[in-house]
Amino acid sequence: MEFPDLGKHCSEKTCKQLDFLPVKCDACKQDFCKDHFTYAAHKCPFAFQKIFTYRCSKEGCKKKEMLQMACAQCHSNFCIQHRHPLDHSCRHGSRPTVKAG
Ligand SMILES: [Zn+2]
Ligand SMILES: [Zn+2]
Ligand SMILES: [Zn+2]
Ligand SMILES: [Zn+2]
Repeated sequence: MEFPDLGKHCSEKTCKQLDFLPVKCDACKQDFCKDHFTYAAHKCPFAFQKIFTYRCSKEGCKKKEMLQMACAQCHSNFCIQHRHPLDHSCRHGSRPTVKAG
């Protein structure tokens, strides 16, 4: 009988400790202990791809954010300044009964 995945060894060369709840780095996809899962702690070579990865969807805005801030109504991603439906002229807002014709 096998015990699948009874912990993993931290991928940090100087550490290698067995951790039962390893944290997978979402940038380099390696497993790390709680001390080394941050990008800085294992000097993640792919971290730069993950930082400022969420671009604002508003036309003309080039801002990027580290956090995803999706509009609750149109589900597009925006920067802090444009995350509010009014600030990106959200098209999917539920309008109060405006009927043409
Ligand atoms: Zn470690
Ligand atoms: Zn990493
Ligand atoms: Zn923006
Ligand atoms: Zn929106």
